[in-house]
Amino acid sequence: MADTGTTSTTRATGATGATIELVDLSKRYPGSRQPSVDSVNMWINAGETVVLVGPSGCGKSTTLKMINRLIEPSSGSIRINGEDVTRIDPVKLRRKVGYAIQSSGLFPHMTVAQNIALVPRMVGWSASRIKARVAEMLDLVGLDPGEFRDRYPRQLSGGQQQRVGVARALAADPPVLLMDEPFGAVDPITRDHLQDELLRLQRELHKTIVFVTHDFDEAIKLGDRIAILRERSHIAQFDTPEAILAGPADDFVSGFAGAGAALKRLNVTRLRDAEVTDCPTVDVGDPPQRILDRLRASGTDEVLLLDRRGRPFKWLRRGDLTGAKGSLARAGTPVGTVTGGATLRDALEAVLTDSAGRVVVTGRHGEYTGVVDVETLLNSVRGLLEADRLDAVEHQHELEEARTGQTQAEQEGGGAEGPA
Ligand code: ADP
Ligand code: MG
Repeated sequence: MADTGTTSTTRATGATGATIELVDLSKRYPGSRQPSVDSVNMWINAGETVVLVGPSGCGKSTTLKMINRLIEPSSGSIRINGEDVTRIDPVKLRRKVGYAIQSSGLFPHMTVAQNIALVPRMVGWSASRIKARVAEMLDLVGLDPGEFRDRYPRQLSGGQQQRVGVARALAADPPVLLMDEPFGAVDPITRDHLQDELLRLQRELHKTIVFVTHDFDEAIKLGDRIAILRERSHIAQFDTPEAILAGPADDFVSGFAGAGAALKRLNVTRLRDAEVTDCPTVDVGDPPQRILDRLRASGTDEVLLLDRRGRPFKWLRRGDLTGAKGSLARAGTPVGTVTGGATLRDALEAVLTDSAGRVVVTGRHGEYTGVVDVETLLNSVRGLLEADRLDAVEHQHELEEARTGQTQAEQEGGGAEGPA
């Protein structure tokens, strides 16, 4: 996704996230015997993305809509940055809490610009400020303002509508963003793109995001933490994706996480320092003789050539040097890279597609920080899988013990402890 420079203006002015606290929050709809949301307690940190995930009908949307008072709680309270939302004036609340929903929720009779301008207009921004903000927001979500500003929602693809929906939710720069299955109605490839964009936006904006989905894979991709909800919004587990995949709290959670938990962990486990090693490096400015010396001294058959800013440029072998006659620009083989924050999956993909099975790890500014090779990575992955297998075996033992304990009790004329 192209993300060059479009967000710089937002960065300067952006309101970052607020804390959200749900305290004994319940909702019973009129006419229902059971509450749809039953005494939920949750603390959400400022700048954190929390995903509420659970089966259809478990109360995710109801919980979310109570945060911005689209639904009034039956009991309990919600505090944003410590302030009880029932005491916040509704117009001010709209400015504090952006809201994006499935099928974008755009008003069909309004243009893209009018849709995005809704909250800024409501809170009384000037026309010129609104106009600039609309352009900035379209830019932010990757739509050309000149092309899209005056279109109507029906003149946009599903993915573009979702982008406008996100732009609208962010227009008044709210510290909190609520998203209810915002990407539920688009095709899988567009959804993947939109998810990547949301991650990119969040790295820039640091909003507090509460994101609702029924898709566990979407949850582990987007969430800093995930709350897995069962019926009536009871929290089955609330933790980081890594922790949930490594240690599901119960059978409901492991059932929901689905098969292949070990492989999913590759998506959420980051490359660790232990997996990154050093390799011999030389600079583009170095004379060929020095490079040859370096090769000899290192005892390896290749060195990494860095450009003037310390970024990986080429892999060089001995033969490259003898043939190159002074010019290193054409010599050597291209370097595959991953960033230091890459997931094991990204790293694995990179080393598996690299002809020599190694890639360079880069820092914030693209500079060389180390290398990672296929063997080291495969060992790590094996370690992860093994740990999971042992957990599963242990779990099986526990189940069996519980079962034999039970039959023993029955044989010994159990039921003695039961009610007489
Ligand atoms: P989810 O978003 O997890 O699918 P919802 O929060 O939409 O779940 O719904 C939770 C429960 O509350 C469901 O049983 C649903 O039928 C019920 N419900 C939702 N909205 C209303 C309403 N307006 N009136 C009565 N019951 C409702
Ligand atoms: Mg819902």
